[in-house]
Amino acid sequence: MSKHTSFRAGGSALALIEVENMKQLMEVLRFADEERIPHLLLGNGSNTLFRDSGYEGLVIKLGCSFGHMSIENEDTINGRSVKKKSKGEKFIVHCGASMLLSTAAAFMRDEGLTGLEFASGIPGSIGGAVFMNAGAYGGEMKDIVRGVQAVSPDGRRTKVFSHDELDFGYRHSALQDNGWIATKVMLDMTAGDKSDIAAVMKDLNARRNAKQPVNYPSAGSTFKRPEGYFAGKLIEDAGLRGLTVGGAQVSTLHSGFIINKEGATATDILQLISLVQNTVYDKFGVMLEPEVRIIG
Ligand SMILES: Cc1cc2nc3c(=O)[nH]c(=O)nc-3n(C[C@H](O)[C@H](O)[C@H](O)COP(=O)(O)OP(=O)(O)OC[C@H]3O[C@@H](n4cnc5c(N)ncnc54)[C@H](O)[C@@H]3O)c2cc1C
Repeated sequence: MSKHTSFRAGGSALALIEVENMKQLMEVLRFADEERIPHLLLGNGSNTLFRDSGYEGLVIKLGCSFGHMSIENEDTINGRSVKKKSKGEKFIVHCGASMLLSTAAAFMRDEGLTGLEFASGIPGSIGGAVFMNAGAYGGEMKDIVRGVQAVSPDGRRTKVFSHDELDFGYRHSALQDNGWIATKVMLDMTAGDKSDIAAVMKDLNARRNAKQPVNYPSAGSTFKRPEGYFAGKLIEDAGLRGLTVGGAQVSTLHSGFIINKEGATATDILQLISLVQNTVYDKFGVMLEPEVRIIG
């Protein structure tokens, strides 16, 4: 799974299956359910770490047919809407769950729709971002998600979850508790000014590139923000900046990131996570909770 996750570490899964449409997705889920094989839906793998011992289950990926976008009730030519939008006008945009946030944000910018700028530099899929309630620079998916079309973990039912049913919280959504798989996400967007939207995206991406170790494999912020603190600041104040286990390192640029500096195994990363947790707990009495999903 090192080839399919942004940490570039970890062992093998039983199988990796890419499904091309709803029928295939539901068939695979039903098969896994009948055969009692564990399964996991992987988005872009930017918040997931598989243990070196691997995962005795199916990893399912959504193929390109889950990567379309369209604006509700809008006529389009070559995927672009024809009508001129007036500033402040509301639109619902349908996004296939495998679509990357960067691609979705670029689509919104080109359509003059504001609301997703905050996410343009987050390297996940729309589905993974809803699952995690991903956020940055004051925005979170919960601010714009109107609803989610999803398939039950046993592959037998489909349902549209409303915003309220998704029970969003800090890096939390109901999908983490109920195992449903997002296949399409409906976003509430507002018509704005294309050049303003482009300028915000450019600024946020420049800030991200300056402050985060984007040139090394990682899963972004390793830990959730503990209430009343910042994980990176606690790690730094505990003197752990640059701490290394094998090929894994607490980033010297941003202590909230553990990076795969050189050839790290998942075990190196997990040992470093524990070391950071224990040291921060001993010094400040705060237990850091990993944001990255650890599988296997
Ligand atoms: C350099 C870097 C910077 C980052 N910056 C940020 C940031 O600013 N803010 C932030 O919030 N995160 C950030 N992240 C973390 C990560 O990009 C987000 O959590 C993102 O939303 C994960 O999406 P993904 O598709 O890669 O999810 P994956 O890692 O593939 O999956 C994460 C979890 O979501 C589940 N999942 C994925 N797709 C679906 C689906 N369709 N239906 C149901 N469950 C699904 C998976 O089963 C898994 O449990 C960063 C990561 C990196 C590497």
